[in-house]
Amino acid sequence: MSETITNWAGNITYSAKELHRPHSLDRTAALVASSSRVRVLGSGHSFNEIAEPGPEGVLLSIADLPPVLDVDTEARTVRVSGGVRYAELARAVHARGLALPNMASLPHISVAGSVATGTHGSGVGNGPLASAVREVELITADGSTLTIGRGDPRFGGAVTSLGALGVVTALTLDLVPAFDVEQYVFTELPLTGMDLASFETVMSAAYSVSLFTDWRAPGFRQVWVKRRTDQPLADFPWAAPATEKMHPVPGMPAVNCTEQFGVPGPWHDRLPHFRAEFTPSSGAELQSEYLLPRAYAVEALHAVDGIREAVEGVLQICEVRTMTGDEQWLSPAHDRDTVALHFTWIEDTAAVLPVVRRLEKALDAFDARPHWGKVFTTPAEVLRERYPRLGDFRKLARELDPEAKFANDFVRAVLAD
Ligand SMILES: Cc1cc2nc3c(=O)[nH]c(=O)nc-3n(C[C@H](O)[C@H](O)[C@H](O)COP(=O)(O)OP(=O)(O)OC[C@H]3O[C@@H](n4cnc5c(N)ncnc54)[C@H](O)[C@@H]3O)c2cc1C
Repeated sequence: MSETITNWAGNITYSAKELHRPHSLDRTAALVASSSRVRVLGSGHSFNEIAEPGPEGVLLSIADLPPVLDVDTEARTVRVSGGVRYAELARAVHARGLALPNMASLPHISVAGSVATGTHGSGVGNGPLASAVREVELITADGSTLTIGRGDPRFGGAVTSLGALGVVTALTLDLVPAFDVEQYVFTELPLTGMDLASFETVMSAAYSVSLFTDWRAPGFRQVWVKRRTDQPLADFPWAAPATEKMHPVPGMPAVNCTEQFGVPGPWHDRLPHFRAEFTPSSGAELQSEYLLPRAYAVEALHAVDGIREAVEGVLQICEVRTMTGDEQWLSPAHDRDTVALHFTWIEDTAAVLPVVRRLEKALDAFDARPHWGKVFTTPAEVLRERYPRLGDFRKLARELDPEAKFANDFVRAVLAD
């Protein structure tokens, strides 16, 4: 039986004719052991060919494995199947009085797929989602199981792994006590006159802050401020409070978004921008994102402003977020406090790609690392230069997967010697 399998955005059709959905770990291990090429598909929210198995390859989903969601309230950890989505994980954790330290803009994405690409939210004190992971359980190339935990010298490669080490069947994550968040939206924050110190001040105004702009004019159309209710309420004198509930993408219904106007609510209903029951973002789109040292934030924003006319023609919305550096060797935030410039484009690859190339040129001087799950054209040799621990990851991939069963063209280009 042949089926058409696409990613969430519909811009990628995988060459595999079948999505294998084993119901047991034994069946998954047997399938891996007997196949020569394997890629796992998570919830399919990446915008490029990172999950493509190649014509001879097996495409595997672990969404039908018996779900694991074991919360240990004393240790403040949760052991969760890789295929579980953040929405379900968050509800289970919250029910036990605990929380994840941060979430991405949407809760629809799978845990293993998200951390494999370095997915992140925002907050000057928050790391990417992978930084909550303390242990990863894998089925490796010969079908055997392997657990790699913090403290293991291989751990730096094990979480943000691009799916190149094996099938991640479960992960153990650190939790924190549950907390409430109030979300406020402000409008029209100028870029003119902003220096690095004022950028840092704005982005530090609350637990998580995001700036949004359509680049039709310099400056930011919206600022989303997510304050933990157990932390002080800082003034936000730099922009005016919104007078109606807003969606970051112009023209999209605000009902899709999490509660605003400072109504307090649980962390998992405020940290994502989009509600689990609704389509996130615009739904008809492509995305790109570049992560660079935070010290370059304002210079990089001015560089984008310099090509604003090209960018705005194919743009739905641009979001600016921050995060702390992390220890994952292939994390785009590896070892540096980071600013992330995200672009939600129109869903027209031919029109978007030339702008992506121009944007990459404009950001080239800032050591920009593209988000692994989004559209980019950065040449593989440039990517390789931007990851100082890439050699360690290559060694680990060879050790765990000597015949490169879990490699595809995307991974091979990145790992080439
Ligand atoms: C509307 C929208 C909003 C987004 N918002 C954000 C955001 O706020 N922040 C951000 O950083 N990113 C964001 N993204 C990007 C998204 O988080 C990443 O693309 C992420 O990888 C999606 O997870 P997934 O489960 O869909 O992964 P997939 O796209 O299915 O897979 C990604 C990679 O993970 C591998 N993989 C998946 N599951 C496993 C497994 N069990 N074992 C081994 N490998 C596996 C795949 O092989 C592939 O290499 C957004 C995407 C969309 C569509």
